[in-house]
Amino acid sequence: MTSQMEDKLQDECGVFGCVAASNCTTPVDVANIISIGLIGLQHRGQESAGIVTNNASIDDGMRVHKGMGLVSAVFNPIILKQLDGNLGIGHTRYSTQGKSEIINCQPFVVDTKYGKIAVAHNGELVNKSKLRRDVLDRGVGLSTCSDSELITQLLCLPLDSEKSLEPDWTGRLRHLMLRTPASYSLVLLHGGAIYAARDPFGNRPLCIGRLEGDVGGKSPDTVGWIVSSESCVFQSTGAAYIGDVQPGQVVKVTNTGVTYTTAVNSGQSAFCIFEYVYFARPDSIFEGQTVYDVRRRCGAQLAREFPVDADVISTVPESATPAAFGFSRESGIPYDEVLAKNRYIGRTFIQPSTRMRKLAVEKKFGVLVENVRGKRIVVVDDSIVRGNTMGSIIRMLRSGGAAEVHVRIASPPVKNPCYMGINIPTPKELLANKLNLEETTKFLGADSLGYLSVKGLLSCVTSGRGKLVENGHSPETKSNGSCGTGHCVACLTGEYPVQLEW
Ligand code: SF4
Repeated sequence: MTSQMEDKLQDECGVFGCVAASNCTTPVDVANIISIGLIGLQHRGQESAGIVTNNASIDDGMRVHKGMGLVSAVFNPIILKQLDGNLGIGHTRYSTQGKSEIINCQPFVVDTKYGKIAVAHNGELVNKSKLRRDVLDRGVGLSTCSDSELITQLLCLPLDSEKSLEPDWTGRLRHLMLRTPASYSLVLLHGGAIYAARDPFGNRPLCIGRLEGDVGGKSPDTVGWIVSSESCVFQSTGAAYIGDVQPGQVVKVTNTGVTYTTAVNSGQSAFCIFEYVYFARPDSIFEGQTVYDVRRRCGAQLAREFPVDADVISTVPESATPAAFGFSRESGIPYDEVLAKNRYIGRTFIQPSTRMRKLAVEKKFGVLVENVRGKRIVVVDDSIVRGNTMGSIIRMLRSGGAAEVHVRIASPPVKNPCYMGINIPTPKELLANKLNLEETTKFLGADSLGYLSVKGLLSCVTSGRGKLVENGHSPETKSNGSCGTGHCVACLTGEYPVQLEW
């Protein structure tokens, strides 16, 4: 389901991994670093969390702890102390596949003929029905409907009964990529190594960082490495950004360093554009640019595409704030706040009916009357899905005395389902499929409405790529992707980057 109260698309998972370096003098508390990383990725999933650690030098079995709820509720200092080891992986989950219950919590740990492995992933396999049938036909049972369990089984089955398995996990991950083109970013723990892999289309994000001993020092030692869905966690874990894991790439991390292998070269890339629009934290870096920077450019482009005479530019706190700043700077109209947010109503607070959802919006926001009274206001938001919150916000602003309320959306209308791991309501529930622009403006009660164009969005995403590249691990994106820029925009255009098999 989407986050109904916020009327947004909902992402589904965050993955994280940490390996301590062998020769460092500064102790690295791996479980603690993973828990901090997962807290930094909490916006990607709040239903459950899990950590698996291993001590490669003792080889006495993996330590596992998983539970329902927020990371801070699942882990405490006593539990983290029990998760000793010099490497580990973690996961925070929002369910798209499988119920929200403990059996589906990740990481998954399974015994294989090569020893125990633990796997955590973000995404959804586009051909999962076919893959499940293949696995079951070959006599392998599946105990959950989770894609993670399916992935672990696929990693231990040769491509077909004639072929033998690849000799190592990098090769087995390559075989996984040959079977399923998207969508997954995953971390796999085995023995003394973590393997980080992105599907051949690079649909979900994944990046690598270097843990620094003397954080902020002039020449800080490397005391380990981390792998994360987003780089926003790097500062809080004392890590420096190295770069994105490339589409189709497998990165092996051990206590001596990092090895990069191009496992599959699809010649295409289809990174989810909604990571830029809404999912990711603004301080994360993708393709060598911050998400904040892209959102600000989207706001500026929106001002060029849909200019308006107004007194104040504002936003619905707080995911669209960078876009509102961009709109303000480009239009020359000052930015100010018109809504105060109650920060203690969480993103997952699901309201059972439309009436309750409308009231929930009023519980969540209060109008800053002095900033609103008599003003012509432009409300910038990042997206509209069902349209069940913006109407309430406009009514609140009018009650607060706004002279005019204009709405500007820093992404194009969402019209199509996603088959790559993002929960989008059915096409008939989507506002953009029910009403045209004029009808939507009337439905919302706005004085005017404008959506950023697909072309405008893509130009904002591509124009700043590569600005923050470090260490030669260039976050290049190939230019022959689904929409010609290496980004998936299927929910906006209906053009899917991969063939869908069901
Ligand atoms: S269809 Fe593509 S752009 Fe839209 S949410 Fe899914 S992966 Fe992201």
